[in-house]
Amino acid sequence: MGKRYYCDYCDRSFKDDPEARKKHLSSLQHVKNRADHYNTFKDPEVILKEESSKVPCKWYMNNGECAFGLGCRYSHYTPPMIWELQCLVAMKNQSKLNLAPENGWPNPDDIIKEYFENSPSTSSSEDFTYPTWHRPLELQNYSMLPPSLWPITPESLTNTTAFTEWG
Ligand SMILES: [Zn+2]
Ligand SMILES: [Zn+2]
Repeated sequence: MGKRYYCDYCDRSFKDDPEARKKHLSSLQHVKNRADHYNTFKDPEVILKEESSKVPCKWYMNNGECAFGLGCRYSHYTPPMIWELQCLVAMKNQSKLNLAPENGWPNPDDIIKEYFENSPSTSSSEDFTYPTWHRPLELQNYSMLPPSLWPITPESLTNTTAFTEWG
């Protein structure tokens, strides 16, 4: 038994030789079946985009039918159908928005956690140098400085009884 080529779109098999395959793939029936197949699974948004970029099929609009079917390179979608598609797409996007948070939108707590886990300033905290304030040299030996100009030390920050009045 020779090799058979099976076409999913057309649901039929035939002798697998390059010539026969090529002939089948370019046959009108196959092109139509393939287009039907994809149209069944297509997103309304994709169809809308495609159809609104196509020129309306004169045959289809005048006679209500066209030999090319869904394989036709002109659009078989009438304005009301396009409008319907637009509604469908709008509805779909709406429900997408509503469903999004439950559908795995990142939770704010996770974002914060991730930020701190990946942040270089916390992962290498030893290297982090705190900004320091240095008193100008000419004030170094001046004893009557107001507390706001005292050198900042851990003691001065905790020992609030060292001064009673803000200078
Ligand atoms: Zn086929
Ligand atoms: Zn057509």
